[in-house]
Amino acid sequence: MKRFDICVIGAGIAGLSLAARLAHRASVAVIEGESAPGYHASGRSVAFAHFGLGERVVRTLTALSLDDLKARPADDRAAPAEVHPALHIASQREVPRLDALEDVHRAFGCDYVRMSGGEAVRYAPALRTGPDYCYSAILDRGALKLDADAILQGHARDIRAMGGELNLGASVNSIARSGEDWVIDTAASTFTSRILVNAAGAWADEIANMAGASPIGIEPRRRTVISFPGPHGTDLSQWPFVKTVGDGFYMLPEGTGQLLASPMDEGASAPCDAAPEEIDIATIAERIEQSTKLTVSRISHSWAGLRSFVRDELPVVGFAKDAPGFFWCAGQGGAGFQTSPALSRIGELLVLREDWPEELEAKGLNPSLFAPSRLGA
Ligand SMILES: Cc1cc2nc3c(=O)[nH]c(=O)nc-3n(C[C@H](O)[C@H](O)[C@H](O)COP(=O)(O)OP(=O)(O)OC[C@H]3O[C@@H](n4cnc5c(N)ncnc54)[C@H](O)[C@@H]3O)c2cc1C
Repeated sequence: MKRFDICVIGAGIAGLSLAARLAHRASVAVIEGESAPGYHASGRSVAFAHFGLGERVVRTLTALSLDDLKARPADDRAAPAEVHPALHIASQREVPRLDALEDVHRAFGCDYVRMSGGEAVRYAPALRTGPDYCYSAILDRGALKLDADAILQGHARDIRAMGGELNLGASVNSIARSGEDWVIDTAASTFTSRILVNAAGAWADEIANMAGASPIGIEPRRRTVISFPGPHGTDLSQWPFVKTVGDGFYMLPEGTGQLLASPMDEGASAPCDAAPEEIDIATIAERIEQSTKLTVSRISHSWAGLRSFVRDELPVVGFAKDAPGFFWCAGQGGAGFQTSPALSRIGELLVLREDWPEELEAKGLNPSLFAPSRLGA
C-alpha cells in the first residue's frame, strides 16, 4: 500500500494543474486509469482562451489566468501559449448579442476592436459577409492559443520534480474508508491518503459513488471537431480563431494548411471514450460551406470529447459535506484549460483550508460559488 497526504484521481488538466500546486506543500499521488495523461477531454480540447463563452465567474477565472498562461517557462519546456486573435462574428439579427459580448470585452479590459463584416474579412478572408452572415465582428487581439500537451506535460514534470507520483494505468476499482484515511484500490496498486481529490472529469460522479459521497449531477456533453485542408497554397497560420456569437461554429488554423472546426454541439453522453457522430460531422461541414467561401472536400481527421458540466455550469471545487476529506475538482465545462491557473489556485487554497484572499473576494469570487454543497453534495 502506497501512502500519500493527498491522492488525486484523474490526470486531465483539472487533476494535474491542482496536483502540481499541491505537490509543493504535501506528498501527492495522481492516479490515472489511462496509459497517458490527458487521454479524455483534456487531450481532445482545441485549447483556446477567449471571452466568448461562459458567464461572469468563468470569465473572471479566465481573466485571472491569462498572465500565468502567457508566462514564458523558466526552463527548456515548450511555451504553453501564444497570443492569437479571436474574431467573434454576428449576423445582423445577432448584433444585440455581439453588443453584449463587446460589453464583456470592455469590462475585462481586453485589447479588442469592433468592426463591420467588410473589415472582418481583412483578417479572415474566407468569411461571407452580409446581413445573414458576418455583418459585425469583434477582434480580440489578446486571445491565446494554448498548447494543451505542453501544459499537461509541464504539470506532470512539476509533480515529479517535487517528489510526487503520476501513476498511469491505475484505473480505480474501489474506494473505502479505513479510520480517517481513504483506501483507493486500482489496477496498478493500492493507495491511501487522508485527502482524496476527485478530478475524474466525466466520471466524477462514478468516483463519488465508489466513495459513498453524494453526486453533483455531472452532465457530460459531447463536442465534435473536424480538421480539413484550407485553400491550396494559402498560409492559414495567421487566420484568427473565428467564432459565431450564437449557435453556429468555430474555426481556427492548425499549422499552415489545415483548419479545425466545430459545430459547438452539446449532445448528452454517458461517460465514455467519446467518438464523433456522422450527423455532427455533416453539420459542421455544411455550416462552414454556408458561412464561408471554403469547401470542405476532404475531412482529414475528426474527433469528439466530453465537456462536463453541472446544472449551473460553474466549476465544482471544494470538500464534500458528507464524506470527510473527499474533495471535488470537476465541472470545468468548456473552459478547463483557460481557467486552470486560477481554478487550481482556488483548489489549493480550499484543499489546504487557507484563508480566502482579499484579491479574489474583490473580483467577486468566493468559495460558496464553487462549493459542492450548492448541488447537495
Ligand atoms: C472538443 C473540445 C474542445 C474544447 N475546447 C476548449 C478550449 O478551447 N478552451 C478550454 O479552456 N477548454 C476547452 N475544452 C474543455 C476542456 O478540455 C475541459 O474543460 C477539460 O479538459 C476538463 O479536464 P478534466 O481534467 O476535468 O477532465 P479529463 O481530461 O477528462 O480528465 C479526467 C481524467 O480522469 C480519469 N479517470 C476517470 N475515471 C477514472 C478512474 N476510475 N480511475 C482512474 N482515472 C480515472 C480519466 O481517464 C481522465 O484522464 C474543450 C473540450 C473539448 C472536448
